[in-house]
Amino acid sequence: MKKHNFSAGPAILPASVLQQAAEAVRDFNGSGLSLIEISHRGKAFEAVMDESHALVRELFGLDDQWEVAFLTGGASSQFFMVPMNLLNEDETAAYTDTGVWANRAIKEAKLFGNVEVVASSKDQNYTFLPKNFAVQSNARYLHITTNNTIYGTQWQEIPHSSVPIVADMSSDIFSRPVDVSPYGLIYAGAQKNIGPAGVTLVCVRKDMLGHVRRTLPTMLDYRTHIKDGSMYNTPPVFPIYVCMLTLRWIKEMGGLKAIGERNERKAQTLYAEIDRNPLFKGTVAAEDRSRMNVNFLTADPAHESAFLKICADNGIEGVKGHRSVGGLRASLYNALEQES
Ligand code: PMP
Repeated sequence: MKKHNFSAGPAILPASVLQQAAEAVRDFNGSGLSLIEISHRGKAFEAVMDESHALVRELFGLDDQWEVAFLTGGASSQFFMVPMNLLNEDETAAYTDTGVWANRAIKEAKLFGNVEVVASSKDQNYTFLPKNFAVQSNARYLHITTNNTIYGTQWQEIPHSSVPIVADMSSDIFSRPVDVSPYGLIYAGAQKNIGPAGVTLVCVRKDMLGHVRRTLPTMLDYRTHIKDGSMYNTPPVFPIYVCMLTLRWIKEMGGLKAIGERNERKAQTLYAEIDRNPLFKGTVAAEDRSRMNVNFLTADPAHESAFLKICADNGIEGVKGHRSVGGLRASLYNALEQES
C-alpha cells in the first residue's frame, strides 16, 4: 500500500532524494566508498558543501551582504545562539509569543539581555497571529516564528518592523517565495523541508555580527563557522548531502515560486474540504492558516479515533495532532504530492 506521509517532522522528503541518498551511502559518486566513510576535507565532500551553500543563496536570492552556515544543535540551539551573538546585556530584543517554540526562544534570550514580548496569542491558545503591534525602534531585533508547527498558524504577511527581523523558519523554509530584505537572520532545523534531522541552516546579514561585547565560545560564534565555510569542525556530512539533494530538487521544481504555488494548491484542497464537510472543523483563524500544518478536529470528538483508524487503513500516516494540543494535524511539506 502506498503510504501518504503527513508527519510534522522529521517529515516527507522527495522520493528521488531518498533514492540518491541511499545510493550515496552505499557508493558515493561511483567512488567505491560510502559518503559517510570519506573525509569531509576531501574534494568530493567539499563540492557538496559548496553546492549546498550556493543553492541556499540562489533560492533565497541572497547577495554578498549575507552569510550562510550549516550548524548542529537543532533549531533549539539557535534559541540561545541568536541572543548570544546579537544582543548585549543592556539591550532589548522584541519577541512575539506565538506558541511553544517561540516561548523556548524567549526563555533563552532572557539569559543574554532584555526581552520585550511585544505580542502574544496565548489567550486564544495560539490559534491566531497577533497583528498591529509596535516594536521599539531601539530594539536590537524582532524575533518571529514564521510558521507555528504545533498550532498550524503561519504569517501570510510578516509584521511590519523598523528593526531587523530574526526568523525561526524551521517549518516553512523554502516553501514559498521570501523577500529577505526585512530579515537580519533566518534559521531553520532541516528536518521538515530540507533534509534529515542533525543540521540547522543559518542565514545572517553581515552587519548583524560583531556587535556584542561578550566573549563567545568558539563553537557558538557564528563567525567561526562562516569563516571556515561550515567546516570548522566535522560537519554532519550525511544530513548536509541530503539537504543539497533536496535543494537541487526544489530548484528543478521551478524554485520557490513554483513550490509556493504547489503548496498553496495542496493546502486549499484540504481546507476547502474541512470547511465544506460538517464532520470536521478547522481550529485556526482563516487569515492565519498555515500552508504547511493543517490543524483540524472532528466535529464530534468521539469520531476522532474512528477517523484515525480510517487513515491507518489507507496508508495515511502522521495525522494525530501534537500531544500538547490534541486533535488532528496534516503536515503538507514541500515533498508531499497533491495526490496524497
Ligand atoms: N522551531 C520550530 C518552528 C519547530 O517546529 C521546531 C521543531 N519541531 C523547533 C523550532 C525545534 O527544532 P529542533 O528540534 O531542530 O531543535
